[in-house]
Amino acid sequence: MRDDFSLRTKDILAKRVGFLCSNPACNMPTVGPHSDDTKITNIGVAAHITAASIGGPRYDPNCDEQQRSSVDNGLWLCQSCSKLIDSDLPKYSIEVLRDWKKNAEKNAGERLNRQLSVSSGAPLNNQIDWEQIKPNGLYEKEFGGQRIQYYLIGDLLHFEHESSPGVITYGVLDKQGNLKDLKLPYPLSEYSVEIPENLVLSRNLTSLPDGRIREDVSMKWGKSAIVIRDAQNKLTDVHIVGGSSVNHVLKKFIVSPPISHR
Ligand SMILES: [Zn+2]
Repeated sequence: MRDDFSLRTKDILAKRVGFLCSNPACNMPTVGPHSDDTKITNIGVAAHITAASIGGPRYDPNCDEQQRSSVDNGLWLCQSCSKLIDSDLPKYSIEVLRDWKKNAEKNAGERLNRQLSVSSGAPLNNQIDWEQIKPNGLYEKEFGGQRIQYYLIGDLLHFEHESSPGVITYGVLDKQGNLKDLKLPYPLSEYSVEIPENLVLSRNLTSLPDGRIREDVSMKWGKSAIVIRDAQNKLTDVHIVGGSSVNHVLKKFIVSPPISHR
């Protein structure tokens, strides 16, 4: 008799870690689109921390049926990692697996908080796992032909983002994902700021003593931006509280709302 997880329990386990494999060395997404437009592909597995049946891996005779099939006894993994943990029981002990679970949930919580408080456009930071950077202070990833290197220096995360060959942006983020410093591959004066008009609560223009124009923009969800332009209407300063994404091909700062405002 196996004490399997219910569909509801599996769903909770997957969502509590944002559908990423809980093995910190893996951390791979486990869901995505299916070739059928109306379906998803799920390669995630709700693994039992202590076995579902007698003789199974990490079986604990002190657990009852209800405990074995509870959310507490489940760990969300990708298919490979679910096989991996059963192939070396001393290495992947109950304690190790509980640790993975705790950290994966903590990381998912931090990603969610960042998403809610900073906006979806937080520069290059949505998928970063701080825990992965910590051990050696360096983390490198590639996606769609772009390359990002992260270095952790003190509490600040420095990044170099090569968005296309030779176009490198350098920036500094704090732990909340706020941009502290940014050096662009092209002069700031060549960039523009894009804020969808339907998101703007108010705009306020002020003339500065040196002849530049300062524009304060408040967004409907509480974010704000300060944009300063010279007499030729060229950007000389931009400060977007809460961050924005930057497209260096279009030379644009793009402010986008949090998911709740789309
Ligand atoms: Zn995995």
